[in-house]
Amino acid sequence: MRESYQVRVEKDTFVFSAGHFITYDGEHCERLHGHNYRAAVEVDGPLDENAYVFDFIALRDIFAAIVAELDHRMLLPGQSDKIHLHDDGENWKATYRQRYWSFPKDECVVLPISNTTTELIARWLGLELLGRFDRKGLKRPERITVHLEENFGQWAVWRAELA
Ligand SMILES: [Zn+2]
Repeated sequence: MRESYQVRVEKDTFVFSAGHFITYDGEHCERLHGHNYRAAVEVDGPLDENAYVFDFIALRDIFAAIVAELDHRMLLPGQSDKIHLHDDGENWKATYRQRYWSFPKDECVVLPISNTTTELIARWLGLELLGRFDRKGLKRPERITVHLEENFGQWAVWRAELA
């Protein structure tokens, strides 16, 4: 018999509202709009001396803190070759061809991603979670999965195998 364990956390505090716009098909750029995103996280691994895969409360609190940093923010791609960010003093000026937008910096999060798709935001959430595990001295799980819903029934899922 092969067995495995996973813990899954999906909480009301993993909901965040944020603005974004993406580029697609090489020559299109969406209009600015927002989503009420909802996330869930799963970690897999062996049981520890407490018979835990991972401490639920620690996982919940660390992930909720990351999600909170995106809530009520404009999400901008810091690594796009199509949407360019210009430092305009108090504001980020985002340009796409002849279009431009200007946002107060303290209302934005510039993510180290090439496009603010749900897939890449899910990946960023997962990598950020792993980074915080490391900084807190918590053991990395064997596998981590982040689910992110951007609209009813539309989920992106990022998974990393770490074992
Ligand atoms: Zn969208």
